[in-house]
Amino acid sequence: GKGIAVFTSGGDSQGMNAAVRAVVRMGIYLGCKVYFIKEGYQGMVDGEEFIVEANWSSVSSIIHLGGTVIGSARCMEFREKSGRLKAARNLVKKGITNLVVIGGDGSLTGADLFRQEWSVLLEELLKTNQITAEEREKCKTLQIAGLVGSIDNDFCGTDMTIGTDSALHRIIEAIDAIVSTAYSHQRTFIMEVMGRNCGYLALAAALSSEADFVFIPEKPYHANWADKMCKKLLQERQNGQRLNIIIVSEGAIDREGKPITAEQVKKVVVDNLQQDTRVTVLGHVQRGGNPSAFDRVLGCRMGAEAVMALMEADENTEACVITLEGNQAVRLPLMECVKRTKAVAAALAEKQWDKAVDLRGKS
Ligand code: ADP
Repeated sequence: GKGIAVFTSGGDSQGMNAAVRAVVRMGIYLGCKVYFIKEGYQGMVDGEEFIVEANWSSVSSIIHLGGTVIGSARCMEFREKSGRLKAARNLVKKGITNLVVIGGDGSLTGADLFRQEWSVLLEELLKTNQITAEEREKCKTLQIAGLVGSIDNDFCGTDMTIGTDSALHRIIEAIDAIVSTAYSHQRTFIMEVMGRNCGYLALAAALSSEADFVFIPEKPYHANWADKMCKKLLQERQNGQRLNIIIVSEGAIDREGKPITAEQVKKVVVDNLQQDTRVTVLGHVQRGGNPSAFDRVLGCRMGAEAVMALMEADENTEACVITLEGNQAVRLPLMECVKRTKAVAAALAEKQWDKAVDLRGKS
């Protein structure tokens, strides 16, 4: 059977374990030898004890756990050719010619580069007697399938990334908890949520919690946002509302591109309205806890689809990323999606908000 390895890389997110489990079991079901690579690219470079064969039961009882049980890491060595050479050698020694990478756009970019370089790396390994001609022949091509694990929902080509739904659950649980105390004291509370340059979590949290105001990177307010916000908060209180909720995305900016922070928003509320105001920065709570049913199912579907994509690939197939489009798992060209994701970031940096939203598409 073919050798497949699965690893998680970059930031962790809930639902990664479901994806790992699905890759392992689908791979075994189809007669492959499946390996875990622990600690992402670092494990691939270090080899030996980090690359272990998986069996059916080694992925039992992990689907409900947050984070990633096989570990994730950032790895400087893999950014250098010398690191990738070591990684290639370690894979060839185990007969691994298929990789499922679960991570963000950085991890997927690294995987694509590795694939493009593969034959050059093998040539070099052969020349330096680190692999045999037979081993090279057996491992001639490397196939890649990517899955996007990220709470930010910032990847182009997919409606949802693995982990976003669970993070959203954490956020609204926290808001619901705070609302009950804020209600008792007629407070205004400001919550800062994650998302990097993507406002999805902030926007969805604002909708789900009847927030009065939300700041996101893709639709910045003009310089007069303070007046606009105070008017709205006051109006809600005059209508009998006992508390106000404001959501600030960590990447929020104004039309000049200057960051808008939760503390800044608080100062505006206190100075202008003299309301009792509290800031909550949720931080890593958003990445913690058990994955939602949605993320478990998403991880299962994407993991299974990734293995099928690898089994159907030949040397002419491009590296793909498995995405969700209209509730269907689909295969898209990996680098096209990565490039679009990077173009969104560039458009935002250039203050081309509409272009960024267009490029990002549905998510
Ligand atoms: P994410 O995958 O969440 O975007 P990073 O950008 O930190 O996170 O990438 C995770 C790891 O992927 C890096 O530590 C590095 O080992 C590898 N990687 C990222 N970009 C590249 C690249 N251009 N070339 C090679 N490896 C890369």
